Amino acid sequence: MKISVDYPRCEGHGLCAGQAPAVFTLDDDAQLTYRFEGADVPDEYVTVARAAVDSCPVAALREQS
Ligand code: SF4
Repeated sequence: MKISVDYPRCEGHGLCAGQAPAVFTLDDDAQLTYRFEGADVPDEYVTVARAAVDSCPVAALREQS
């Protein structure tokens, strides 16, 4: 699976990083980094990555089919 990140929409709440710290991180300025930009999420992280997508309160994350 792939995830698209709408960075302007992200408000830095960090719920995604809480659900999937191996996939999403926030720096000290609440700037989001998505580790697998442009790539498939590795199979071992797909379940937590989906939970992260579902956790975002502003719908900045979308799973691409
Ligand atoms: S949960 Fe959504 S708003 Fe919060 S850091 Fe992640 S992408 Fe951004």
